[in-house]
Amino acid sequence: MDDQTLEIPISGMDCAECTQHVQHAIEKLPGVQSVNVFLGSEKAIIKLDNAQVDLSTIRTAVQGAGYDVPTSTDPQTDPVSMEDFNRRLTLLLVGVFALILSVVIFGELLGWFDFLNERVPFLLGLVIVIAGGYPVFKNVISATLNRQIISHTLMTLGVIAALVVGQWATAALVVVFMRIGDYVENFTTESARRAVKELTSLAPQTARVEQTGLEIELPIAQVKVGDIVIVRPGEKIAVDGEVISGQATVDQSAITGESMPIEAANGTHVYAATIAKLGSLRIRAERIGVDTTFGRVVKMVEEAEGHRADVQRIADKFSAWYLPVVAAIAAITFLITRNPLSTAAVLLVACSCSFALATPIAMLASVGASAKRGLLIKGGKYLELLARADVLLVDKTGTLTLGQPQVTDVISLNGLSRTEIISIAASAERYSEHPLAEAVRRLAGAENISLNEPQDFESVPGQGVRALIDARRIAVGNRRMIPSAETLNLASDLEAQGKTLLFMESDHELVGVLAAADTLREEVPTALKYVRTLGIGHIELLTGDNERAASTLAEKLGVSYRANLLPEHKIDIVKEYQAKGHVVVMIGDGVNDAPALAQADIGIAMGAAGTDVAIEAAHIALMREDWNLVPEILKIAQRTMRVVKMNLLFTTAYNAIGLTLAAFGFLPPVLAAAAQSLPDIGIMGNSARLLKQK
Ligand code: ADP
Ligand code: MG
Repeated sequence: MDDQTLEIPISGMDCAECTQHVQHAIEKLPGVQSVNVFLGSEKAIIKLDNAQVDLSTIRTAVQGAGYDVPTSTDPQTDPVSMEDFNRRLTLLLVGVFALILSVVIFGELLGWFDFLNERVPFLLGLVIVIAGGYPVFKNVISATLNRQIISHTLMTLGVIAALVVGQWATAALVVVFMRIGDYVENFTTESARRAVKELTSLAPQTARVEQTGLEIELPIAQVKVGDIVIVRPGEKIAVDGEVISGQATVDQSAITGESMPIEAANGTHVYAATIAKLGSLRIRAERIGVDTTFGRVVKMVEEAEGHRADVQRIADKFSAWYLPVVAAIAAITFLITRNPLSTAAVLLVACSCSFALATPIAMLASVGASAKRGLLIKGGKYLELLARADVLLVDKTGTLTLGQPQVTDVISLNGLSRTEIISIAASAERYSEHPLAEAVRRLAGAENISLNEPQDFESVPGQGVRALIDARRIAVGNRRMIPSAETLNLASDLEAQGKTLLFMESDHELVGVLAAADTLREEVPTALKYVRTLGIGHIELLTGDNERAASTLAEKLGVSYRANLLPEHKIDIVKEYQAKGHVVVMIGDGVNDAPALAQADIGIAMGAAGTDVAIEAAHIALMREDWNLVPEILKIAQRTMRVVKMNLLFTTAYNAIGLTLAAFGFLPPVLAAAAQSLPDIGIMGNSARLLKQK
């Protein structure tokens, strides 16, 4: 089997049920294993067996369902600005209301419809109806041929019912409203897409590349890893890479959401889509296009729709049932009242798309707007879970603390000099990536102490390192690794100060102790206090560090703690809370906590910019190291769910009232048709609030 994943653009999807049509059309093809269709980013991701299907078969199937697979990537149209969008929204609202009002006053009250019906020949009326509604009828016919019932099918039945009783003017107006309804829906869908498109539009398109002494402007697709990219003041950095010369202040807000620029110089890693404000840079390209941090963020936002919230699953199921239910209500109405106009009204008031749109439009708005502020949310599912979360587990080192410990004490136990201890410890730690190892190496560097090359280096996660230095067996680590440390009295004094101890053994004899202290991030206490007010009842610190260091910090923050943990224990603790029915948020630095982050209901990686593991493993990635983002993301989740619930409640109430009025004959068909676009506008306006986050 030749399995493959194919990603194709789909055009023409301007309603929420459209994704389901495309989904069905592709799913039916032999050899297709799974399909995921995205309304927001207008694409489909298809898992298929290459031998059986090819692109042209898929294109034919998609076209058969009434949509298209564009061949070349058309130039991106610039997204509408926020003010522009709000202006159009207001205009649309006013327009639709004015139209409904005039229809009611002139049409119904003054009897203009009857007048038109009597004076204009029926056949001419019929032609007008067919001409005006042609695009709609065409959709209905192609859907019917594919054995699908779409919301237009019901409306078309409503039009036919009006024609049957000779009310061509009513039918014509219904057609007008159907077209307006489509326009509104199109606009609504577009509004949902906007957040994603705004983000995509930040991607760099070209790069100025140094080639044989010349600077050439190249489209980003032609830039290669290792190329030297030049960035001038005010320009967008085109690649992820390392600065090799020059100096500039860089605005990284496109990635981190932080508007305060950073200083970049030789050796600094910079990211694509950020902007060099003052100064120029020469950068060696390390990652390009979709591989850059920005590229990954965009891709994940585009595909966030794939991680659907449960509310959306329910709404989707419901909207699949909704049309048949409406058809049944219409049939019953006709059987009881024998009134074709009431029946038509029932068919026309149906607007299943607003059910299908209520959730994704709010989710897309939140995910898109958050991404621009340095909060990468991988899907509506996680916003939904986060809004219900009640337990927060926090990794200590590198998450609550800066992760840059300093060695504060060096103690010799067996006659070795301070320099010898530092030299041996730093040599053993030479190839460890642990922050404590870095601290020891930094101390050695600061005191100009030379290092030896370690032999047989071994790193033991959550414990320490072992290596052969100058033919001596050296071990540096905590009590778990060096049990003889238990007998040391001075240890507990240092630990009581919240310090982490590195015990050092040489040939199984305890020869020294190094104490390191890490600094708590300053915004943590306030942020945690805030988090408590947002419904998180239990906060617990998880650390591989010693009991004393953990308890000192936990006490200061007023949280519970567990110390001396191995990385795998953290997963067990997450599971333990889940088994008790809690919804667990885990926050970590994403590197050695990745498994626990993945196990948590919501895993949040802190400071994820540039670290792939963190972005992959977490469900939510905070692109800058700022604890204020934690309460912020909780608030965003809660707000989003409030908007989603409001949207669903509003649509349900609206449709229930509409259907009842229509069935009992209180709603003339024209008004029913006019009224069906109002819920869409309501949902759109309500969800647009999420785009404007404080
Ligand atoms: P945390 O859970 O706080 O992120 P880790 O699981 O990374 O901590 O490490 C737990 C403990 O293991 C550290 O506090 C330290 O005592 C010890 N340790 C881990 N790696 C090293 C190392 N390279 N050198 C010395 N000690 C280490
Ligand atoms: Mg850690």
